[in-house]
Amino acid sequence: MAFEGLSERLQGTMTKIKGKGKVNEADVKEMMREVRFALIEADVNLKVVKEFVKKISERAIGQDVMDSLTPGQQVVKIVKDELTELMGGEERKIEFSTKQPTVIMMVGLQGAGKTTTTGKLANLLRRKHNRKPLLVAADVYRPAAIQQLETIGKQLSLPVFSKGTDMSPVEIARQAIEHAKAEHLDTVIIDTAGRLHVDEALMQELKDIRALKEPDEIFLVVDSMTGQDAVNVAQNFDAAIGITGVVLTKLDGDTRGGAALSIRSVTQKPIKFVGMGEKMDALEAFHPERMASRILG
Ligand code: GDP
Repeated sequence: MAFEGLSERLQGTMTKIKGKGKVNEADVKEMMREVRFALIEADVNLKVVKEFVKKISERAIGQDVMDSLTPGQQVVKIVKDELTELMGGEERKIEFSTKQPTVIMMVGLQGAGKTTTTGKLANLLRRKHNRKPLLVAADVYRPAAIQQLETIGKQLSLPVFSKGTDMSPVEIARQAIEHAKAEHLDTVIIDTAGRLHVDEALMQELKDIRALKEPDEIFLVVDSMTGQDAVNVAQNFDAAIGITGVVLTKLDGDTRGGAALSIRSVTQKPIKFVGMGEKMDALEAFHPERMASRILG
């Protein structure tokens, strides 16, 4: 299960402090030592851990908390608030354009789950937002990726714009946007090429696609199992092309939680969706508060 170790440790720490009738500075310090350890074990970025611990300590050691009737519970609430804040605070909704069509670019490294997520997102937007999506196969370097998207389209009965591997991804995207306009499909979701590593050529191609019609969303798909690597990838993509949000995949696995807890703070970009399985309905809007509650039990 995701966050298992982190959850167990934090819950243990919170139970201890909740049970105390009085809380003094030493208690808070002891708690923060445990919280720090739990976060480091979960592979959270060190700078993020430091800031997080500092914020909670400052709030928890305040007189009004210490003097309250239920100091333990107050401290636990502070931890939950800050954990929610760390993951982005309010849920951030997807942006749709007032000018048709809305264009969403899916970017990310190979194997992160980009193509699968493209299908899942189209399915979710149709079901929950009443959108009419067009899937665009722009990963021309991997014929298997094109086929995979076509299969997903068939499975979901959704149109896929595919021109094989001979046309440039930029031209495919351009034609796809025109096609969507003509067919009154209001949401174009472009499955761009993935590579094994971040590289210049890929970034240039993504910039060229971006320049066709400023996308309403550029979602970076990252694998939550890759921890701090996912955070580095997010930083690189954001610096090169500017992402609007992150989709964190494979949260149904046993990820320790480092990516989920660090990405927002490091990149300032929100996690908008999480992948919870391989099936086409296994994509959920990300709710920081619910996730914090889940972790703290
Ligand atoms: P791409 O190379 O980034 O396009 O990655 P794919 O979409 O081909 O996905 C790679 C693998 O990850 C596939 O086997 C997917 O079924 C799997 N996958 C994608 N998202 C999730 C998820 O949220 N949970 C799980 N368990 N598997 C996922």
